[in-house]
Amino acid sequence: MRSVAVLSIVVILEAGCAGQPPATYDLVVANGRVIDPDSRLDATRHVGIRDGRIAAVSETPLTGARVIDAARHVVGPGFVDLHEHGQQEESYRMMVRDGVTTAFELEAGTADVAGWYAAREGGQIVNYGVSVGHIPARMRVLGDPGKGLLPAGIGGTGSATEAQVAEMEAILRKGLAEGAVAVGMGSAYTPGAPMAELARMFRVAAEGGASTHIHLRGGLEGLKETIATAKAAGAPLHIVHVNSVAGDDIDAFLASIGAARSSGQDVTTEAYPYGAGMTEIQSALFDDWESWPEERFALHQLVSTGERLTRSSFARARAAGGTVIIHGRSEAQTRAAIVSPLSMIASDGFIEDGRGHPRTSGTYAKVLGRYVRDEGAIPLMEALRRMTIEPARRLEKRVPGMARKGRLAVGADADLTVFDPATVQDRATYENGAIPSAGIPFVIVAGQVVVEDGAVTAARPGRAVRASAR
Ligand SMILES: [Zn+2]
Repeated sequence: MRSVAVLSIVVILEAGCAGQPPATYDLVVANGRVIDPDSRLDATRHVGIRDGRIAAVSETPLTGARVIDAARHVVGPGFVDLHEHGQQEESYRMMVRDGVTTAFELEAGTADVAGWYAAREGGQIVNYGVSVGHIPARMRVLGDPGKGLLPAGIGGTGSATEAQVAEMEAILRKGLAEGAVAVGMGSAYTPGAPMAELARMFRVAAEGGASTHIHLRGGLEGLKETIATAKAAGAPLHIVHVNSVAGDDIDAFLASIGAARSSGQDVTTEAYPYGAGMTEIQSALFDDWESWPEERFALHQLVSTGERLTRSSFARARAAGGTVIIHGRSEAQTRAAIVSPLSMIASDGFIEDGRGHPRTSGTYAKVLGRYVRDEGAIPLMEALRRMTIEPARRLEKRVPGMARKGRLAVGADADLTVFDPATVQDRATYENGAIPSAGIPFVIVAGQVVVEDGAVTAARPGRAVRASAR
């Protein structure tokens, strides 16, 4: 192994073999407080990078073609975001300045896995990957008119024939064969799909050893039914944004997920640190809007204009399409989800034409600035564990390459985030979701500097993460 050879050269040099040239690295991140939640290392170290991998984690200084001084900064594994809909340059530019080095679209996913990866070949700012999704498969099979990620009609509310369900299964199987890293589902967005249909999709996921990432419907009862259905199918289950699907029942949700885990079932979850959600205004979540009381409309903020809605402006926006931010959860609900050791941190982000939910730009810095530093609600090591090694482990049974991510150790991919624990802070707001986070001066992907002094560089080293080499 190259990394072992490099280490032995360092050892020989330190043993005093004068006359040999010193080992040098492509890049050295020096003097930082290196934190690796996998090994629980938390100490001053010098990180040597060669050929895109971490080649040394040294107590003594290293020499390199380039040296970044990370004194007074934390150097951690780059953050792995399991829930990022914004899979284009504009969103990547925001999330990378929030410390994310690998971003997955797993909840909605795609019905065309090969095409999705082909569209991103040639390099992105961060590493990227996708699930094959039941939602887009259903939209395609039933002929939904929606143009975004979610059904706008029959794909959500219609019922499928046996032949159509079999077609969806075939799309999932093909996507898994093309390297999809997981299976996506959103029963909240597909009220026309009975649990029996979802059970068929869980079984396809189980065949492929794929985790299923689901935005579930039906509150606490829906959670219990989903856990039971995944268990019967033998499918690993990941509940997306527990903070938003649980609402008032967050404690009971977390207890139910914890109980399933204690019984040996593979169930995980995630949360984002904001009290508002965001979704497409034409989705089935709002099918009952005409029966709402007047005051409920004001909880909805149109992303394109920032305006709070009324009954009439909601009606116009629903007819026109677009995205809407939904206010309404309490800070206590958000905090309960974020401080739980069960919750990985995931953004559910998406920015387009400069507009979107602040979670795209600020999720990780908000957890590190507000909940770790300002409130002392989560230890730093624990927060980083849920941003790095836990999401990597979630995928690594099906995606062997994930065993080199989420870690800061010799042999791991050199995806690193360098932040100042005293100043790291989100800055994006509901009115302007495209303000990058502060206090994260350097981000490195595959050994290349993609954020330098807080600005995105021209490097595009991000590569596809998929289940198998093709
Ligand atoms: Zn989402």
